[in-house]
Amino acid sequence: MSLNHGRPMVSIPGPSVIPDRVLAAMHQPMPNIYEGPLIDISNSLLEDLPKIARTSHPVFISVSNGHGAWEMAISNTLSRGDRVLILESGRFAINWGAMASVSGVICEHLPGNDLDPVDPAALEERLKEDKKHEIAAILVVQVDTASSVRNDIPALRKAIDSAGHPALLMVDCIASLACEKFEMDEWGVDITVAATQKGLMVPPGLGFVFASAKALTAHANANLRTGYFDWTSRINPVEHYKIYCGTPPIQHIWALREALDMIFEEGLNNAWVRHEVLAESVRLAVNAWAVPEGMELNIKQQSARSNAVTTVLTGTVNPKELRRLSEEKAGVTLGLGLGEFADRSIRIGHMGHLNPHMVLGTIGTIEACLESMGAPIGSSGVAAAAQLIGSRL
Ligand SMILES: *Cc1c(COP(=O)(O)O)cnc(C)c1O
Repeated sequence: MSLNHGRPMVSIPGPSVIPDRVLAAMHQPMPNIYEGPLIDISNSLLEDLPKIARTSHPVFISVSNGHGAWEMAISNTLSRGDRVLILESGRFAINWGAMASVSGVICEHLPGNDLDPVDPAALEERLKEDKKHEIAAILVVQVDTASSVRNDIPALRKAIDSAGHPALLMVDCIASLACEKFEMDEWGVDITVAATQKGLMVPPGLGFVFASAKALTAHANANLRTGYFDWTSRINPVEHYKIYCGTPPIQHIWALREALDMIFEEGLNNAWVRHEVLAESVRLAVNAWAVPEGMELNIKQQSARSNAVTTVLTGTVNPKELRRLSEEKAGVTLGLGLGEFADRSIRIGHMGHLNPHMVLGTIGTIEACLESMGAPIGSSGVAAAAQLIGSRL
């Protein structure tokens, strides 16, 4: 029977749950777009977004999903024929590189897999071989949303510095911004890419590129620049709309203002800790369920497990059936597997607007579905998760 009445829950790694406050902020008629409050709010975003990425450098807003922000980063800083190094770990850096190669950038891959973070030593070794400094940029994700690995960005920066290599370090934080500790300036990141629909709790539709001084210098010589994404026409514009290269994305501006207010009210550091506790409760639940041939965490190295998303290998449990039951009968949408383990995994998103009852609800629903499917489970994941959460209240 279906018990699915009441509010549905998305436990997927983006788009994440939109807070009621953010939904309400969007529910307004069209304003004056030439002057007045909209312009002020839009300007306040340019001031406040860098605080979330922990940078003193400017942000450029692309009216697009994350893929558009990827393209904005590439087209503004690179030239046809430039070589970039893709640091593999899961899928997303590979996909970013695939887009760059369509633009005429030569992509070399530092091989990786769907189980481990990028190896800083392998990066250092490759960069040391590049004596002529042909590699113009290094593309990596902080969190890979397919494998749920978290890469150690400071360690990668250190590897680049040890090799004495001048390549731009470009980091995709689309899944992780406002979920995981990230320090753009302190960690020496040259370009940070993000988007609205994950930790930032806003519907999909805006992408962000934070650009260091070094990235802006690279921009001056980049020949992949396009009219729409071009930073030169967007930076310090006389007419405000030029920062968006056209009509401002009005509803998104209101939504993002409200979401940033919520993050500042909580405190960014507190938001990181909350994500860590809630993510750990999910991991403890999966470990409690684990039996030989059963459910297990995809990422084995504990320090490399993301606090934004957890990929669970489902062993003998059919992931498609688990997701179907959970959604149709119990109102919880789970993420489908991606990448190497696509047909034997699920992903649980735990990013953004989440509290214990939402996370425990998702864990309890998965446990109920496993019961319903007659799946072998070790012990109660709900109990394990509740114990941790209880110890942190
Ligand atoms: C979601 C995601 C993307 C893609 O974002 P879209 O908005 O779907 O284009 C890219 N990289 C990472 C790490 C992501 O999590």
